Amino acid sequence: AIILGLESSCDETAAALVTSEREILAHALAGQEEAHRPFGGVVPEIAARAHVEVMTPLVAQVFEEAELSLSDIDAVAATAGPGLIGGVMVGLMTGKGLALAGGKPLVAVNHLEGHALSPRLADPALEFPYLLLLVSGGHCQLLLVKGVGSYERLATTIDDAAGEAFDKTAKLLGLGFPGGPAVEKAAQTGDPASVPLPRPMVGRADPHFSFAGLKSAVLRARDSGHYTPEDIAASFQAATIDCLVDRTARGLASAGDITALVVAGGVASNSAIRGALRALAERNGLPFIAPPPWLCTDNAAMIAWAGVERFAADLSDPLDIPARARWPLDADAAKARGAGV
Ligand code: ATP
Ligand code: MG
Ligand code: FE
Repeated sequence: AIILGLESSCDETAAALVTSEREILAHALAGQEEAHRPFGGVVPEIAARAHVEVMTPLVAQVFEEAELSLSDIDAVAATAGPGLIGGVMVGLMTGKGLALAGGKPLVAVNHLEGHALSPRLADPALEFPYLLLLVSGGHCQLLLVKGVGSYERLATTIDDAAGEAFDKTAKLLGLGFPGGPAVEKAAQTGDPASVPLPRPMVGRADPHFSFAGLKSAVLRARDSGHYTPEDIAASFQAATIDCLVDRTARGLASAGDITALVVAGGVASNSAIRGALRALAERNGLPFIAPPPWLCTDNAAMIAWAGVERFAADLSDPLDIPARARWPLDADAAKARGAGV
Protein backbone atom coordinates (compact mmCIF):
# COMPACT_ATOMS: atom_id res chain seq x y z
CA ALA A 1 0.00 0.00 0.00
CA ILE A 2 1.01 3.63 -0.51
CA ILE A 3 -0.01 6.14 2.17
CA LEU A 4 0.12 9.94 2.11
CA GLY A 5 1.02 11.38 5.52
CA LEU A 6 0.42 14.95 6.72
CA GLU A 7 1.85 16.61 9.83
CA SER A 8 1.13 20.08 11.24
CA SER A 9 0.74 19.72 15.01
CA CYS A 10 3.47 22.13 16.08
CA ASP A 11 5.85 24.23 14.00
CA GLU A 12 6.77 21.80 11.20
CA THR A 13 4.53 21.48 8.16
CA ALA A 14 5.23 18.18 6.40
CA ALA A 15 3.96 15.74 3.79
CA ALA A 16 5.31 12.30 2.83
CA LEU A 17 4.49 9.26 0.73
CA VAL A 18 5.48 5.96 2.34
CA THR A 19 4.81 2.35 1.31
CA SER A 20 4.07 -0.70 3.43
CA GLU A 21 7.50 -1.95 2.28
CA ARG A 22 9.01 0.97 4.25
CA GLU A 23 9.98 2.86 1.13
CA ILE A 24 9.89 6.63 1.64
CA LEU A 25 8.90 7.64 -1.90
CA ALA A 26 9.03 11.36 -1.09
CA HIS A 27 9.02 13.60 1.95
CA ALA A 28 8.92 17.37 2.30
CA LEU A 29 9.14 19.56 5.36
CA ALA A 30 8.88 23.29 6.01
CA GLY A 31 10.07 24.57 9.37
CA GLN A 32 9.00 27.90 10.85
CA GLU A 33 12.07 28.81 12.94
CA GLU A 34 12.46 32.27 11.37
CA ALA A 35 8.83 33.20 12.07
CA HIS A 36 9.00 32.20 15.75
CA ARG A 37 12.58 33.19 16.59
CA PRO A 38 11.77 36.82 17.54
CA PHE A 39 9.39 35.46 20.22
CA GLY A 40 11.76 32.78 21.55
CA GLY A 41 9.07 30.11 21.23
CA VAL A 42 6.26 28.84 19.02
CA VAL A 43 3.40 31.34 18.63
CA PRO A 44 0.23 29.29 17.89
CA GLU A 45 -1.50 31.82 15.64
CA ILE A 46 1.63 32.40 13.55
CA ALA A 47 2.12 28.63 13.31
CA ALA A 48 -1.43 27.99 12.10
CA ARG A 49 -1.20 30.63 9.38
CA ALA A 50 2.16 29.31 8.19
CA HIS A 51 0.74 25.76 7.95
CA VAL A 52 -2.09 27.08 5.77
CA GLU A 53 0.39 28.72 3.41
CA VAL A 54 2.65 25.73 2.80
CA MET A 55 0.63 22.56 3.35
CA THR A 56 -0.95 22.34 -0.11
CA PRO A 57 2.28 23.13 -1.99
CA LEU A 58 4.10 20.45 0.06
CA VAL A 59 1.45 17.88 -0.88
CA ALA A 60 1.84 18.80 -4.55
CA GLN A 61 5.61 18.56 -4.17
CA VAL A 62 5.65 14.99 -2.78
CA PHE A 63 3.26 13.75 -5.47
CA GLU A 64 5.48 15.34 -8.11
CA GLU A 65 8.69 13.90 -6.61
CA ALA A 66 7.21 10.41 -6.42
CA GLU A 67 5.63 10.80 -9.88
CA LEU A 68 2.29 9.74 -8.43
CA SER A 69 -1.18 11.22 -8.19
CA LEU A 70 -4.02 11.00 -5.68
CA SER A 71 -5.53 8.03 -7.52
CA ASP A 72 -2.35 5.98 -6.93
CA ILE A 73 -2.47 6.02 -3.14
CA ASP A 74 -4.42 3.75 -0.78
CA ALA A 75 -5.20 6.10 2.11
CA VAL A 76 -4.57 9.55 3.56
CA ALA A 77 -3.09 9.72 7.07
CA ALA A 78 -3.14 13.04 8.92
CA THR A 79 -2.18 14.02 12.45
CA ALA A 80 -5.44 14.64 14.32
CA GLY A 81 -3.80 15.63 17.63
CA PRO A 82 -2.41 16.25 20.15
CA GLY A 83 -0.88 19.65 19.44
CA LEU A 84 -1.65 23.30 18.76
CA ILE A 85 -5.26 23.07 17.64
CA GLY A 86 -5.06 25.63 14.81
CA GLY A 87 -2.19 23.75 13.23
CA VAL A 88 -3.69 20.30 13.74
CA MET A 89 -6.87 21.49 11.99
CA VAL A 90 -4.90 22.57 8.91
CA GLY A 91 -3.38 19.13 8.30
CA LEU A 92 -6.47 17.19 9.28
CA MET A 93 -8.80 19.28 7.10
CA THR A 94 -6.36 19.01 4.18
CA GLY A 95 -6.34 15.24 4.70
CA LYS A 96 -10.13 15.08 4.83
CA GLY A 97 -10.41 17.10 1.61
CA LEU A 98 -7.95 14.84 -0.21
CA ALA A 99 -9.63 11.68 1.12
CA LEU A 100 -13.03 12.94 -0.01
CA ALA A 101 -11.79 14.09 -3.42
CA GLY A 102 -9.89 10.86 -4.09
CA GLY A 103 -12.43 8.50 -2.56
CA LYS A 104 -9.71 7.23 -0.20
CA PRO A 105 -9.97 6.19 3.45
CA LEU A 106 -8.85 8.72 6.07
CA VAL A 107 -6.58 7.55 8.88
CA ALA A 108 -6.56 10.00 11.80
CA VAL A 109 -3.17 9.57 13.44
CA ASN A 110 -2.24 10.41 17.01
CA HIS A 111 1.03 12.37 16.68
CA LEU A 112 2.44 10.40 19.62
CA GLU A 113 1.65 7.14 17.82
CA GLY A 114 3.62 8.57 14.89
CA HIS A 115 6.64 9.00 17.18
CA ALA A 116 5.99 5.62 18.87
CA LEU A 117 5.91 3.60 15.63
CA SER A 118 8.65 5.56 13.81
CA PRO A 119 11.34 3.12 15.05
CA ARG A 120 9.54 0.35 13.11
CA LEU A 121 9.80 2.40 9.93
CA ALA A 122 13.52 2.79 10.59
CA ASP A 123 14.11 -0.85 11.58
CA PRO A 124 12.14 -3.66 9.90
CA ALA A 125 13.36 -6.12 12.54
CA LEU A 126 11.77 -4.28 15.48
CA GLU A 127 8.92 -6.40 16.87
CA PHE A 128 6.33 -5.74 19.59
CA PRO A 129 6.44 -5.45 22.55
CA TYR A 130 9.16 -2.88 23.12
CA LEU A 131 9.86 -0.33 25.82
CA LEU A 132 9.76 3.18 24.35
CA LEU A 133 11.21 6.31 25.91
CA LEU A 134 9.20 9.02 24.15
CA VAL A 135 11.08 12.28 24.67
CA SER A 136 9.81 15.31 22.81
CA GLY A 137 8.85 18.95 23.16
CA GLY A 138 5.57 18.20 24.90
CA HIS A 139 6.07 14.73 26.36
CA CYS A 140 8.39 12.57 28.43
CA GLN A 141 6.96 9.11 28.85
CA LEU A 142 7.88 5.46 29.15
CA LEU A 143 5.46 3.42 27.06
CA LEU A 144 5.12 -0.31 26.68
CA VAL A 145 4.35 -0.58 22.95
CA LYS A 146 2.44 -3.86 22.65
CA GLY A 147 1.01 -3.40 19.17
CA VAL A 148 -0.60 -0.88 16.85
CA GLY A 149 -3.04 1.10 19.00
CA SER A 150 -1.94 -0.79 22.11
CA TYR A 151 0.12 1.32 24.50
CA GLU A 152 0.60 1.09 28.23
CA ARG A 153 1.99 4.18 29.86
CA LEU A 154 4.42 3.19 32.60
CA ALA A 155 5.66 6.70 33.42
CA THR A 156 5.21 10.34 32.57
CA THR A 157 6.60 13.69 33.72
CA ILE A 158 5.02 15.33 36.73
CA ASP A 159 5.88 18.78 35.34
CA ASP A 160 7.94 19.74 32.24
CA ALA A 161 8.82 17.56 29.24
CA ALA A 162 12.51 16.91 28.54
CA GLY A 163 12.41 18.93 25.29
CA GLU A 164 10.71 21.77 27.12
CA ALA A 165 13.61 21.75 29.64
CA PHE A 166 16.11 21.97 26.76
CA ASP A 167 14.13 24.83 25.21
CA LYS A 168 13.85 26.75 28.50
CA THR A 169 17.53 26.21 29.29
CA ALA A 170 18.48 27.57 25.87
CA LYS A 171 16.30 30.60 26.46
CA LEU A 172 17.77 31.22 29.94
CA LEU A 173 21.31 30.96 28.57
CA GLY A 174 20.58 33.09 25.51
CA LEU A 175 21.54 30.26 23.17
CA GLY A 176 18.68 30.88 20.79
CA PHE A 177 15.74 29.03 19.28
CA PRO A 178 15.07 26.16 18.72
CA GLY A 179 16.67 25.23 22.01
CA GLY A 180 17.52 21.52 21.87
CA PRO A 181 20.16 21.61 19.12
CA ALA A 182 21.59 24.89 20.56
CA VAL A 183 22.10 23.34 24.01
CA GLU A 184 23.63 20.19 22.51
CA LYS A 185 26.09 22.30 20.51
CA ALA A 186 27.06 24.53 23.48
CA ALA A 187 27.46 21.45 25.68
CA GLN A 188 30.19 20.11 23.38
CA THR A 189 32.62 22.80 24.52
CA GLY A 190 31.51 22.90 28.19
CA ASP A 191 32.54 20.88 31.25
CA PRO A 192 29.64 18.60 32.32
CA ALA A 193 31.04 18.37 35.87
CA SER A 194 31.41 22.12 36.40
CA VAL A 195 27.96 23.08 37.74
CA PRO A 196 26.37 21.09 40.59
CA LEU A 197 22.80 20.47 39.39
CA PRO A 198 20.07 18.27 40.91
CA ARG A 199 18.91 14.95 39.42
CA PRO A 200 15.15 15.13 40.08
CA MET A 201 13.43 11.77 40.87
CA VAL A 202 16.65 9.73 40.56
CA GLY A 203 16.55 6.72 42.86
CA ARG A 204 12.80 6.79 43.36
CA ALA A 205 10.88 3.51 43.22
CA ASP A 206 8.35 4.77 40.65
CA PRO A 207 9.62 5.50 37.11
CA HIS A 208 8.22 9.04 36.68
CA PHE A 209 10.13 12.10 35.48
CA SER A 210 10.51 15.72 36.61
CA PHE A 211 12.48 18.55 35.01
CA ALA A 212 11.13 21.76 36.55
CA GLY A 213 13.69 21.75 39.39
CA LEU A 214 16.52 21.34 36.93
CA LYS A 215 15.36 24.42 35.04
CA SER A 216 15.25 26.48 38.25
CA ALA A 217 18.76 25.30 39.13
CA VAL A 218 19.96 26.39 35.68
CA LEU A 219 18.48 29.84 36.35
CA ARG A 220 20.32 30.07 39.71
CA ALA A 221 23.60 28.92 38.13
CA ARG A 222 23.26 31.55 35.42
CA ASP A 223 22.44 34.32 37.92
CA SER A 224 25.42 33.34 40.13
CA GLY A 225 27.70 34.63 37.38
CA HIS A 226 30.21 31.86 38.16
CA TYR A 227 29.76 29.77 35.04
CA THR A 228 29.92 30.09 31.26
CA PRO A 229 26.80 29.23 29.24
CA GLU A 230 28.75 26.30 27.77
CA ASP A 231 29.52 24.86 31.21
CA ILE A 232 25.90 25.24 32.29
CA ALA A 233 24.65 23.67 29.05
CA ALA A 234 27.02 20.70 29.45
CA SER A 235 26.07 20.27 33.11
CA PHE A 236 22.36 20.51 32.28
CA GLN A 237 22.68 17.92 29.54
CA ALA A 238 24.61 15.57 31.84
CA ALA A 239 21.96 15.92 34.57
CA THR A 240 19.17 15.29 32.05
CA ILE A 241 20.94 12.18 30.80
CA ASP A 242 21.34 10.87 34.37
CA CYS A 243 17.60 11.37 34.93
CA LEU A 244 16.56 9.75 31.65
CA VAL A 245 18.87 6.76 32.19
CA ASP A 246 17.87 6.19 35.83
CA ARG A 247 14.15 6.46 35.08
CA THR A 248 14.37 4.27 31.98
CA ALA A 249 16.31 1.66 33.98
CA ARG A 250 13.45 1.70 36.48
CA GLY A 251 10.97 1.24 33.63
CA LEU A 252 12.98 -1.67 32.23
CA ALA A 253 12.77 -3.41 35.61
CA SER A 254 8.95 -3.43 35.47
CA ALA A 255 8.42 -3.82 31.71
CA GLY A 256 8.44 -7.63 31.60
CA ASP A 257 9.55 -9.40 28.42
CA ILE A 258 10.45 -6.91 25.69
CA THR A 259 12.30 -7.13 22.39
CA ALA A 260 14.28 -3.87 22.64
CA LEU A 261 14.85 -0.53 24.32
CA VAL A 262 13.66 2.14 21.91
CA VAL A 263 13.83 5.94 21.95
CA ALA A 264 11.85 8.38 19.79
CA GLY A 265 10.74 12.03 19.72
CA GLY A 266 12.71 15.22 19.05
CA VAL A 267 15.04 14.89 22.06
CA ALA A 268 16.07 11.44 20.78
CA SER A 269 18.02 13.23 18.04
CA ASN A 270 20.56 14.27 20.75
CA SER A 271 23.65 12.13 20.25
CA ALA A 272 24.82 12.17 23.89
CA ILE A 273 21.38 10.99 25.00
CA ARG A 274 21.36 8.25 22.37
CA GLY A 275 24.80 7.10 23.51
CA ALA A 276 23.79 6.88 27.17
CA LEU A 277 20.60 4.94 26.37
CA ARG A 278 22.50 2.60 24.07
CA ALA A 279 24.88 1.83 26.94
CA LEU A 280 21.89 1.19 29.24
CA ALA A 281 20.39 -1.23 26.71
CA GLU A 282 23.72 -3.05 26.40
CA ARG A 283 24.00 -3.36 30.20
CA ASN A 284 20.57 -5.01 30.10
CA GLY A 285 21.38 -7.30 27.17
CA LEU A 286 18.79 -5.63 24.95
CA PRO A 287 19.00 -4.30 21.40
CA PHE A 288 18.85 -0.48 21.25
CA ILE A 289 16.81 1.13 18.48
CA ALA A 290 16.69 4.85 17.68
CA PRO A 291 15.41 6.26 14.38
CA PRO A 292 17.83 8.52 12.45
CA PRO A 293 17.71 12.08 13.87
CA TRP A 294 15.52 13.47 11.07
CA LEU A 295 12.86 10.85 11.90
CA CYS A 296 13.00 11.78 15.61
CA THR A 297 11.98 15.43 15.20
CA ASP A 298 8.55 16.10 13.70
CA ASN A 299 8.07 14.87 10.13
CA ALA A 300 5.34 13.36 7.96
CA ALA A 301 7.09 10.08 7.13
CA MET A 302 6.32 8.86 10.65
CA ILE A 303 2.67 9.91 10.24
CA ALA A 304 2.45 8.12 6.88
CA TRP A 305 4.06 5.06 8.51
CA ALA A 306 1.55 5.09 11.41
CA GLY A 307 -1.03 5.31 8.60
CA VAL A 308 0.51 2.22 6.96
CA GLU A 309 0.32 0.30 10.23
CA ARG A 310 -3.25 1.38 11.04
CA PHE A 311 -4.44 0.81 7.45
CA ALA A 312 -2.95 -2.71 7.55
CA ALA A 313 -4.95 -3.30 10.75
CA ASP A 314 -8.14 -2.11 8.97
CA LEU A 315 -8.32 1.02 11.09
CA SER A 316 -9.68 4.08 9.32
CA ASP A 317 -11.78 6.99 10.55
CA PRO A 318 -14.95 8.84 9.54
CA LEU A 319 -14.59 12.24 7.87
CA ASP A 320 -16.22 13.98 10.84
CA ILE A 321 -13.48 12.95 13.28
CA PRO A 322 -12.45 16.06 15.24
CA ALA A 323 -9.01 17.61 15.71
CA ARG A 324 -7.87 17.33 19.33
CA ALA A 325 -5.53 19.55 21.30
CA ARG A 326 -5.16 16.83 23.95
CA TRP A 327 -5.12 13.14 23.15
CA PRO A 328 -3.24 10.72 25.42
CA LEU A 329 -1.91 7.50 23.94
CA ASP A 330 -2.56 5.15 26.85
CA ALA A 331 -4.86 2.15 26.78
CA ASP A 332 -7.90 3.78 28.37
CA ALA A 333 -7.89 6.64 25.90
CA ALA A 334 -7.51 4.23 22.97
CA LYS A 335 -10.53 2.28 24.24
CA ALA A 336 -12.64 5.41 24.52
CA ARG A 337 -11.69 6.31 20.96
CA GLY A 338 -12.59 2.85 19.65
CA ALA A 339 -16.03 3.12 21.25
CA GLY A 340 -16.66 6.45 19.58
CA VAL A 341 -15.76 5.34 16.05
P1 ATP B 1 5.29 16.48 20.95
O1 ATP B 1 5.85 15.48 20.00
O2 ATP B 1 5.45 16.11 22.38
O3 ATP B 1 3.90 16.88 20.59
P2 ATP B 1 6.82 18.39 19.49
O4 ATP B 1 6.20 17.70 18.33
O5 ATP B 1 6.83 19.87 19.52
O6 ATP B 1 6.16 17.83 20.82
P3 ATP B 1 9.26 17.20 18.63
O7 ATP B 1 9.31 17.89 17.32
O8 ATP B 1 9.00 15.76 18.63
O9 ATP B 1 8.27 17.90 19.67
O10 ATP B 1 10.58 17.54 19.37
C1 ATP B 1 10.96 18.88 19.52
C2 ATP B 1 11.71 18.96 20.82
O11 ATP B 1 12.93 18.24 20.67
C3 ATP B 1 12.07 20.38 21.19
O12 ATP B 1 11.80 20.57 22.56
C4 ATP B 1 13.56 20.45 20.89
O13 ATP B 1 14.25 21.34 21.72
C5 ATP B 1 13.98 19.02 21.17
N1 ATP B 1 15.22 18.70 20.46
C6 ATP B 1 15.43 18.73 19.13
N2 ATP B 1 16.72 18.46 18.85
C7 ATP B 1 17.34 18.24 20.04
C8 ATP B 1 18.67 17.93 20.44
N3 ATP B 1 19.65 17.78 19.54
N4 ATP B 1 18.92 17.79 21.76
C9 ATP B 1 17.95 17.93 22.68
N5 ATP B 1 16.69 18.24 22.38
C10 ATP B 1 16.36 18.39 21.08
MG1 MG C 1 9.32 21.73 16.00
FE1 FE D 1 6.50 15.62 18.00
